[in-house]
Amino acid sequence: MTQDLRNRVALITGASRGIGKGIARTFADLGANVVLVSREATVGEKTSAELRANTGANVVFCSGDVTDLSSMRNAATFAAEKFGRLDILCANAGIFPSTSLLEMTLEEWDKVFDVNVRGTLVSVQACLPFLRESDAGRIVVTSSITGPITGFPGWSHYGASKAAQLGFVRTAALELSRYGITINAILPGNIETEGLADLGEDYRQKMIRAVPLKRLGTPGDVGFAASFFASVHAGFVTGQTLIVDGGQVLPESLDSGE
Ligand code: NAP
Repeated sequence: MTQDLRNRVALITGASRGIGKGIARTFADLGANVVLVSREATVGEKTSAELRANTGANVVFCSGDVTDLSSMRNAATFAAEKFGRLDILCANAGIFPSTSLLEMTLEEWDKVFDVNVRGTLVSVQACLPFLRESDAGRIVVTSSITGPITGFPGWSHYGASKAAQLGFVRTAALELSRYGITINAILPGNIETEGLADLGEDYRQKMIRAVPLKRLGTPGDVGFAASFFASVHAGFVTGQTLIVDGGQVLPESLDSGE
């Protein structure tokens, strides 16, 4: 059975580029109507025009900031008014600045938690009134292997925020079950995005060497995994996680590759 998102309406945060754009592309290919949400309108409008042209699907942009509840309520209302309903939220927007424990300021810590953790709550709260009306409400959160499973120097705040998202997902799954809404999380490994490119070529090469499948993931790899959780067929799966990392978390030894 393939995923079919025809007639579904999805709102995806952090969708102007990277993983969010990959999820949007996959959902549009599967027939969904898609609302891209991010802050910079010029980039968002360009991405939505590109996805419309490449998929023929209804893809539109609405600016929104996941740290601001009224802005996200506005985006959720826009989606519901534009397409008549809202079925799927992908809470994907996130930031991953790097700072050592010694140098980290409390402001830097708070900023990461503001976008990655509070932003997840804000996105869910803003979309919930509309998702409750859906016959198959779905929430897909983009977490990470970093934090829930692995550690990486410079990312204590980021890792803590990505693990916190999973704590949120597990309790939210229970609270949302009464509305028939499922919530699950994807844990990507290293995915070729603009954000990852900002970390530099050394980081990229180091990560390729650490992946048993010998490549970084694509935004489409994450999009396909998200489409499973988002589909009407996944209605009995909630509070769960799916790692999409090319096997990066598996090796027991640094020598366990060939
Ligand atoms: P990216 O390339 O840096 O893209 C980030 C997206 O989020 C952009 O569209 C950005 O647009 C938007 N954004 C940032 N702050 C926002 C805010 N406050 N409100 C709304 N939108 C906001 O990032 P990525 O690599 O695709 O990562 C996306 C998600 O995947 C994050 O949650 C990240 O933690 C997770 N992840 C990524 C990787 C990886 O290898 N790339 C691995 C594991 C997990 P604007 O700046 O215009 O708002």
